[in-house]
Amino acid sequence: MALNPENCLFCKIITGDVPAMKVWEDAHNLAFLDINPLARGHTLVIPRTHASTIDDLTQDEAGTLGRAVREVTTRVENGLNVRGTTIAVNNGRDAGQEVPHVHVHIVPRRAGDGAGPIHDLFKGNAPDVSKEELEKTQRMIRDGQ
Ligand code: 5GP
Ligand code: ZN
Repeated sequence: MALNPENCLFCKIITGDVPAMKVWEDAHNLAFLDINPLARGHTLVIPRTHASTIDDLTQDEAGTLGRAVREVTTRVENGLNVRGTTIAVNNGRDAGQEVPHVHVHIVPRRAGDGAGPIHDLFKGNAPDVSKEELEKTQRMIRDGQ
């Protein structure tokens, strides 16, 4: 469900009604520091146009967002002298998204930070799947336009 942009926290950051520590922007996207960082330098990249989830973006918006993420990732890694980042989207409420305006998390990673790979999110809950089930899943996704 698309939220009214007037009530959207991140739309308010775009208009300047809510302050944010901006680190990069262009005509289509804005990047700023997460107020409650998972690691020093945790940055969010958002499109200027309101969309709740990735699936609500136009292909053009998705394209410019992807390029913005690439640009900001380089700046985060060079600026903070880190060699890795976890880049993630909580896409939809079921995936843990709390602010319903698309945002890409760029979290700087440092050796020994203990956070592990994204795979650790599913530790103990990942399903055991047979080859047949993988093939069925392949068909379902291929047909799910
Ligand atoms: P989500 O769970 O929706 O993927 O992530 C929302 C993120 O937005 C969280 O990491 C949270 O710390 C951040 N956040 C929430 N409110 C604000 C705010 O007012 N300003 C900034 N800069 N970040 C916020
Ligand atoms: Zn919004």
